[in-house]
Amino acid sequence: MSRTLPPAIAVAVFWLVQASAITVFFVPFAWSLVALWAVSHFLRAIGLTLAFHRYFAHRAFQMSRGARLVWALLGTAAMQKGPLWWAGHHLNHHRFADREGDPHSPAVSGFYYAHIGWFLNDAQHDTLPASNPVVRDFGRVPEIAWLDRYYMVPPLVLALGLFLYGGLPWLAWGFCLPTVTLAHATFAINTVNHLWGTRRFATEDDSRNNPVTAFFAVGEGWHNNHHRYQRAARNGFYWWEWDPTWYVIAAMRALGLAWDVQAVPARIYAEAERPATAHGTPVPE
Ligand SMILES: [Zn+2]
Ligand SMILES: [Zn+2]
Repeated sequence: MSRTLPPAIAVAVFWLVQASAITVFFVPFAWSLVALWAVSHFLRAIGLTLAFHRYFAHRAFQMSRGARLVWALLGTAAMQKGPLWWAGHHLNHHRFADREGDPHSPAVSGFYYAHIGWFLNDAQHDTLPASNPVVRDFGRVPEIAWLDRYYMVPPLVLALGLFLYGGLPWLAWGFCLPTVTLAHATFAINTVNHLWGTRRFATEDDSRNNPVTAFFAVGEGWHNNHHRYQRAARNGFYWWEWDPTWYVIAAMRALGLAWDVQAVPARIYAEAERPATAHGTPVPE
């Protein structure tokens, strides 16, 4: 995997986009623009969580090549690098969760590095070995390898299209602000969800469930559930745990667009429902 941007340029572009969110204050306010922010934030969030996270990293379900390309395109438009890069490094997060080797653990490397620093540290995280399961199995799919290599193209096309259609207001509310809110919604899973929230399962890492991050990261905030059982297509294990990514996967299954959808096993539910200790973690057997 080779990157399209030299590291110094990638860092400059990242901070330029972060700063660009302020453009929303330089255009006239309209509620329709807030709706545009929501569509851009939440649709691309589903692309990230459904395709990059639950499909490429965890193989929680199967989907058709066409559906995979659509969601992978939307995920790449989030400007969080390519699908192989994203999902490949995520596997290392689970492998070393909150121990040496975890690319982004606030316990190991501090809040800033776990939130943003690691993402910009190309010297450390540019490449993945060919043996990484994501690279090994999806690196040979031409359209996915292309997206991973030219990951800057979808966000650029999106930004340009919004600007040509609706001028600065559409660029500001449809690209600049939602790209920034989505970046922090994603990064918060790596930081907030390893620091603040409740622990249903006594996992060996610091993962926590947090309804606020679950809202902005379309279901990923049930992160302690996820660390306990990564393979499940749902991260909200109960109906009251808001998980829009799961609702989309379930709808795709109903339409025949997704199959081999991995459920949460009964033994995991049994573990969840065991009496809790004072710390809120189930009593071990
Ligand atoms: Zn985690
Ligand atoms: Zn995961």
